[in-house]
Amino acid sequence: MNPDQYRVKPGKSVRLKDWHTDDDGGLSKDEGKELTDELLEGLAEWQERLFAENKQSLLIVLQARDAGGKDGTVKHVLGALNPNGVRISNFKVPTDEERAHDFLWRVHAQAPRAGQVGVFNRSHYEDVLVTRVDGLIDNKTAKARLKHIENFEALLTDSGTRILKFYLHVSPDEQRQRLQDRLTDPSKHWKFNPGDLEARAKWDAYTEAYEAALGTSTAAAPWYVIPADRKWYRNLLITRILLNTLKDMDPQYPHVSFDPLEVEIK
Ligand code: AMP
Ligand code: MG
Repeated sequence: MNPDQYRVKPGKSVRLKDWHTDDDGGLSKDEGKELTDELLEGLAEWQERLFAENKQSLLIVLQARDAGGKDGTVKHVLGALNPNGVRISNFKVPTDEERAHDFLWRVHAQAPRAGQVGVFNRSHYEDVLVTRVDGLIDNKTAKARLKHIENFEALLTDSGTRILKFYLHVSPDEQRQRLQDRLTDPSKHWKFNPGDLEARAKWDAYTEAYEAALGTSTAAAPWYVIPADRKWYRNLLITRILLNTLKDMDPQYPHVSFDPLEVEIK
């Protein structure tokens, strides 16, 4: 399993058809889950260092089609972190107040502070996806927004935030199955939204919009196209990438101003 193969190289155009949805890394599900559990322990330790250091932050952007696995990733991967150092932001249809500002206004306000892991469950990318597919903005506006997004992300990285962007890539068949499950299982009815079927019917238009969005992959804020038909492999890959990234950020425990050996507790 080489996570690098799923990273979109800067400046390279993406054809999603060429990217796998059902990789398994040559592992069985049990092997994959066991490995993920091991890596998650390491991840929690590195997150604690990030929190203790209180200088850098990590921003994780999750984008996917409906039933693509964003919520499952939050639960199974990010759920292993200490919630005290995590800020999860769910971006919904903008409110009137949000709409009365520029599209990055509400997003910037949710950016993680030093020491934090920020998770965007949907993100500023919705402003060049659903808006584009539904004809709420024209191509010129979309292009301008993509440029604003690149500049915004550069501002965050210049300010000490590492950014990882994950597109959870599911096949149309897998999405059908998952939406069907939401109808069949009464405990999942609440997850079903009839609007998801409208988005599904616009599959190709979304593909095009996603391909343009994936063009914002930079060295500092890379996109990964995660094969997501197998939930366990999706979790494993994302965990691996987060762990590698935190190790690379190399957060340090802060130096203390006292000599611990000199301190006497009476
Ligand atoms: P869910 O993630 O299932 O709770 O759904 C949230 C909904 O909000 C989705 O249909 C998104 O497409 C929509 N949404 C999120 N951000 C935006 C945005 N900036 N503009 C329009 N719709 C959005
Ligand atoms: Mg939904």
